[in-house]
Amino acid sequence: MCGIVGYTGHRPAGPIVIEGLRRLEYRGYDSAGVALFDERGELYIARATGKLDALVQRVEGTLPPAVCGIGHTRWATHGEPNDANAHPQLDPLGRVAIVHNGIIENYDVLRKEVAERGGLFSSETDTEVVAHLLAEHVARGIDLLEALRLVVAGAQGAYSLVAVSVDEPGRIVAARVGNAGGIVIGHGDGEHLVASDLGALLPHTRRVSFLEPGEFVDVRRDAVAYLDAEGQPLEKAVEEQPFDAVATAKGGYKHFMLKEVHEQPVTVLDAMRGRYLLHPARVEMDGLPFTVEQVRALTRVVIVGMGTSMHAAMVGRHYIERFARIPAEVDNSAEFRYRYPVLDEHTLVISISQAGETVDTLAAMDEAKRAGCPQVTICNTPGAQTTRVADGTVFMRSGPEVAVASTKTMSASMLLLHGIALHLGRMRGTLDPEVEARQVTAALHLPVAIGEALEMAPHLQRIAGRYAQCEDFLFLGRGLGYPMALEGALKLKEVSYIHAEGYAAGEMKHGPIALIDESMPTVALAPRDEVFDKMRSNIQQVRARHGAVIAVVSKDEHALDDLANDLIELPAVDAALVPLVAVVPMQLLSYYIALVRGADVDQPRNLAKTVTVE
Ligand code: GLU
Repeated sequence: MCGIVGYTGHRPAGPIVIEGLRRLEYRGYDSAGVALFDERGELYIARATGKLDALVQRVEGTLPPAVCGIGHTRWATHGEPNDANAHPQLDPLGRVAIVHNGIIENYDVLRKEVAERGGLFSSETDTEVVAHLLAEHVARGIDLLEALRLVVAGAQGAYSLVAVSVDEPGRIVAARVGNAGGIVIGHGDGEHLVASDLGALLPHTRRVSFLEPGEFVDVRRDAVAYLDAEGQPLEKAVEEQPFDAVATAKGGYKHFMLKEVHEQPVTVLDAMRGRYLLHPARVEMDGLPFTVEQVRALTRVVIVGMGTSMHAAMVGRHYIERFARIPAEVDNSAEFRYRYPVLDEHTLVISISQAGETVDTLAAMDEAKRAGCPQVTICNTPGAQTTRVADGTVFMRSGPEVAVASTKTMSASMLLLHGIALHLGRMRGTLDPEVEARQVTAALHLPVAIGEALEMAPHLQRIAGRYAQCEDFLFLGRGLGYPMALEGALKLKEVSYIHAEGYAAGEMKHGPIALIDESMPTVALAPRDEVFDKMRSNIQQVRARHGAVIAVVSKDEHALDDLANDLIELPAVDAALVPLVAVVPMQLLSYYIALVRGADVDQPRNLAKTVTVE
């Protein structure tokens, strides 16, 4: 889950590597470190526990004028966050330095073998043993890349490694093994970069290529060579990326999360562009490469994702069943994978992953592929691994999402599932063209409606101020409100560290009601729909136990005026699209509560943006 950056070229490597790490810090911030070659070809190593700023302070005034170096921001899996466990990790003689993303599963066996040969370890990481092994091979005269290949052959797990050696300052080698996050190579003039993701490269170049699992790369100032698992040369296309570096700047907002929440009208518009059409009103989704026969033969849809993506999937299930009339299920990717799912070629698997690198979702997709399922993936990152596994990709087009807590990509995912459902419904002949036209027109109104929801920010900030000191929250919803309740609770946990539970409102009496007292507020999603009266009863049950209620209601709804302590009025939208406006107050409430509590909104403790370990 870490961030990795490497640079070799004619410019000072130190600032480039550190600036690159700054862009990737959201991937892990337990520690940071760099390995740079000084002008004599000697290694300068600096590592510091905590956020990147601690490293920046440590290296101040001491960075050598290097032209090659690697850096890492860590999300600890083996060994606590401290200086000794920070990357780069070195062999005992300090001849090779490596940075590592993911887990070496048999590290204990490898470590024992190295220890038996007299190797001494100075960290608790699963990484250090790789440095030892690499150095052993290099000391025997084996070429660095070949040495990396030999180490990888014996090191189990899903990971990526980037290594340098004092024998060849200016050369960087890297490997990608399995699905633990990518390696992207940036091509410049007289310089090349390596990174765990695109964001670190964009200020320098948009010309990139991606390593597939099992591939290696040999990066020098003037040349890049790719190798397959057998060590055979590979031809790789250099792609031009459409994103630019400006898109990853905060642009006047205090936090990336706030900026990304405010981008949602445009996010949704971009997701619809060229897909939601008028005259006649219809949806034409790209990325669904299936024939009418295939679509008509579908007997089931399974939507998989993790965290926020899974909540979007729950909204998507509703759309698929309602508009395409196909039985639909949602599964947590990690659970799906290990419970021997029954799958066949008539089960469409839709996966959702913003980065397209989520290891559990990739594993679920592999499982589906083995069973011969047709697959579509919803993804925000061109070239990502999920897009290579699926038969088709529907891109979010949301631009980079930097805050660790996902916001705009959830809105894009929900919208795209709506589009996929309408498209499949038309192909199957189950969708009334009038219903499709109404949904298209309603969806095209979303950017305005989401904009109205954003205008509630000052109101939400006031509500946040009233409840920010509470230590527990309950979120309740029914129907399409249920995934919003789960998402509201998740956002609050993520960014403000408040304990929050999201429940289907009907479930409340079966347990959570025992928690309710005057110190535990309830956020009740109660838009005017077919289950509104039931929600009102649930709210009454909370109030009867002295619990405060923040009710999220439809525009001009007054039925809860006397019951709720606070009201949040949603802009008017079609009932099916309520989640796309209701999610906005969920996001803003958690943002403003986190702000009051002084929490680190963009980089919450223990989290990382792209979850590439199991
Ligand atoms: N497993 C390695 C460690 O704990 C790498 C973790 C990461 O991906 O940041 O240091």
